[in-house]
Amino acid sequence: MTLTEKDSQYLWHPYTQHKTSQTPIAISRGEGALLWDENNKEYIDAIASWWVNPFGHSNKFIADAIYKQLTTLEHVLFGGFTHEPAIKVAEKLIEILPKNQQKIFFSDNGSTAVEVAIKVALQYFFNKNEKRTTIIAFENAFHGDTFAAMAASGISFYTQAFQGMFIDVVRIPVPVKGQEEASFEALKNVIKTHNCAGFIFEPLVQGAAGMVMYEPEALAKLIQICKENKVLTIADEVMTGFGKTGKTFAMDYVSEDPDMICLSKALTGGTIPMAITTFTQDVFEAFYDDDINKALFHGHTFTANPTGCAAALASIDLLQTEEMQTNIERINKSHLAFQQKIENHAKVITARTLGVIFAVEIKSDAEESYYGSMRTKLYNFFIDKGVILRPVGNIVYILPPYIMTDEQLQKVYKTIEDAIEMV
Ligand SMILES: *Cc1c(COP(=O)(O)O)cnc(C)c1O
Repeated sequence: MTLTEKDSQYLWHPYTQHKTSQTPIAISRGEGALLWDENNKEYIDAIASWWVNPFGHSNKFIADAIYKQLTTLEHVLFGGFTHEPAIKVAEKLIEILPKNQQKIFFSDNGSTAVEVAIKVALQYFFNKNEKRTTIIAFENAFHGDTFAAMAASGISFYTQAFQGMFIDVVRIPVPVKGQEEASFEALKNVIKTHNCAGFIFEPLVQGAAGMVMYEPEALAKLIQICKENKVLTIADEVMTGFGKTGKTFAMDYVSEDPDMICLSKALTGGTIPMAITTFTQDVFEAFYDDDINKALFHGHTFTANPTGCAAALASIDLLQTEEMQTNIERINKSHLAFQQKIENHAKVITARTLGVIFAVEIKSDAEESYYGSMRTKLYNFFIDKGVILRPVGNIVYILPPYIMTDEQLQKVYKTIEDAIEMV
């Protein structure tokens, strides 16, 4: 039996209707921006394996750091114990995060990073004997698949089976161009009519919605409104963190700092699952008390896993090299040139770029759903050509590893152009 055949016997995949979906492709090897399947067919990984892998597959520098840590201290419980890798990650992050971030809490993935932030926002007010239980989130947000993260997410088919079982979330429009005032007004109105604890947002780019972008000034204004009303702000940088937007964090573009930041995905360079939620000193102090009931009773078995920490440290080192910063600029320039080239194409609605993120919306006759027919046609076309891209409805986006070569990038662009002609 091939790997693919064995897979269909035993495995259940994420976001997959097994009755109607195609069988998965078995990948046996990866190097740089390339992957090879069990038949040795080559693919360009143009979405960095769901946005986690900035430095390429099977990166030697990170692998060495992991090996060294595995053979020194692979894991130790973090309740009552600590270790140097966790402390070094914390020191490093506090150095590079927005200045008001002072405390680091580890967990395992993007959803748990968000779960922790939302629980902290709610308990912050509980600890202060204030009744504030509503969370504010954007329309079409994506914050993950655990319960509080789902509640904050606005993409309905991810969450429709669970409606009525969520914490209170009120949604406001994203301040995309022309919608800024509507977004500000909606926020003010929600705060006036509800007891709001926190506002969670994907800063500047909504990834899962199809790389929907909005301006830093608009986000600064929303954060200001929250601050005036003592509503805690949560920047979900799970996708945008670690260079994707052209700066280390999307919040580096924004003049107002958030109370909390969620990190995961590229944190360990796409090697080991790990996540972090960061906090201001003020947030931490709402839990700091003689009363044990005011503590944050949240933890995961593998909290601050030293091997994951070693991977994170190596990744941040790589990100900060001049080579990687140059790569990010190179890809951004390249994207901007491609955007100019195709945005006036008769079949293109609009194209947009921020940092290494590029997205193009393609005209379609029918209302295009998230996993609709155009999406399937495009996806299959890309796979056939050996390019891994996962369109969101009629939106095709690129989020390449920073080490992708110009030649590989050009092949990705050409494949997208051909796809636009094809659909
Ligand atoms: C992917 C993502 C999450 C969820 O992360 P997981 O590791 O898949 O749980 C949360 N927020 C944003 C913005 C994401 O892109």
